[in-house]
Amino acid sequence: MQTTKAKPFRDLCSEHGITATHQRQVLYEVMQGMEGHPSPEEVYARVREQIPSISLATVYKNIHLFVESGVLREVSLHHGTVRVEMNEWAHHHLVCSKCKSISDIGEQELNLAPVRSTLNGFLVERYAVDVIGICPKCQ
Ligand SMILES: [Zn+2]
Ligand SMILES: [Zn+2]
Repeated sequence: MQTTKAKPFRDLCSEHGITATHQRQVLYEVMQGMEGHPSPEEVYARVREQIPSISLATVYKNIHLFVESGVLREVSLHHGTVRVEMNEWAHHHLVCSKCKSISDIGEQELNLAPVRSTLNGFLVERYAVDVIGICPKCQ
């Protein structure tokens, strides 16, 4: 259910005001090939296959840059570590309080009230609900 993102990396970078380097491009392309909610460690393991000299610190730094500039979206602002959202469709998250795994759940499945454009004067951009519980594996 992933949408295709055909926009060239260079255009994406100039749109979001960051410099397109070769290293960032490789990092971005590797992440586009990953599904779900990769952690920097998982991304690092993959990127190293293409850039053996890259450090985990550099991967962290660039992922943060992608998130801060808006090139990529973070799953949730209040999880302990950064996890990047690679799924473009509207969804919420089931978060396991034991193993910290994150899985997606569709908006219809959660059956929430329809999205309102404002709440108490707050302009709503999107809903992202974390459902905290225990996953089937941990039960
Ligand atoms: Zn679990
Ligand atoms: Zn997700």
